[in-house]
Amino acid sequence: MDSLTLAFALEGVRTLGLGSRGAVDLLSVSLSTTDYVGHTYGPDSREIHDQVVRLDRTLGLFLQQLFVRYGSGNVLIVLTADHGVTPFPERSRAEGHRDAQRVNVDTMIAAVNAQLDERAGGGAWVAFESGMVLLPRRAELAAQGVNVDSVMTDVAARLRAVPGVARIDRPADLAKRDTTSAVVRRWMHQVPLDAGVELVATLKPYSIWAYANVPAIAMHGQPSDIDAHVPLILWGRALRRGVYQERVATVDIAPTLARLLGLSPAEPLDGRVLTEAIAPRD
Ligand SMILES: [Zn+2]
Repeated sequence: MDSLTLAFALEGVRTLGLGSRGAVDLLSVSLSTTDYVGHTYGPDSREIHDQVVRLDRTLGLFLQQLFVRYGSGNVLIVLTADHGVTPFPERSRAEGHRDAQRVNVDTMIAAVNAQLDERAGGGAWVAFESGMVLLPRRAELAAQGVNVDSVMTDVAARLRAVPGVARIDRPADLAKRDTTSAVVRRWMHQVPLDAGVELVATLKPYSIWAYANVPAIAMHGQPSDIDAHVPLILWGRALRRGVYQERVATVDIAPTLARLLGLSPAEPLDGRVLTEAIAPRD
């Protein structure tokens, strides 16, 4: 699949005449096969190893074509990923991660909704998605005379009691803390305070959320290193060769590219310019 995507991208480069129009062009390609294979077979499988070997080969051929077309000194490459993935809990347990389990809270959320239905009607008030508890119709529920805060305190207590759950937080409380904790920092990046998220649930290491209607697959979405730590590779003449240990983020890519192109962003950007990786001009 990735080879088809890259062949298509190359055809687009040719047809649109990218890089030959007297200006810098930006080509963005998303290669999604690793995600599909990773979810279906897990990050420790032969299937994902096979996929990564294939991807490496196909990507190499693609870059080679760009170098032939433009000269390697005129191409700048950025390679990154949007997430990692937690292995199957069954394998993690076999490897000694005893807390690893599939955590399903469908029944618990359904029970809370059934209670609210009795009091206020209207069925599914509380929604749960990848560790986030949402209450989109909060004001409506409060207008029915329900003490929403106490309902959420109750949901938090029930969630805390679920095996595999490490901690439950309210986004508003996280915003008051310092961000030296990776878990706090990642939740704050993921959940804006006005997003209507009431609670965020963090699982113990190597545990994953499970859903009744989704087949057993490897999952991501936790604020853990295995799910959130991704590679960031920059390559090109304008860059300083090296491996950098400082914390960087994918939002640093746009400001860094802007600096390399001599552009001033029209509005404030989230990231920072990765000056440590920029070569001095000669
Ligand atoms: Zn995915």
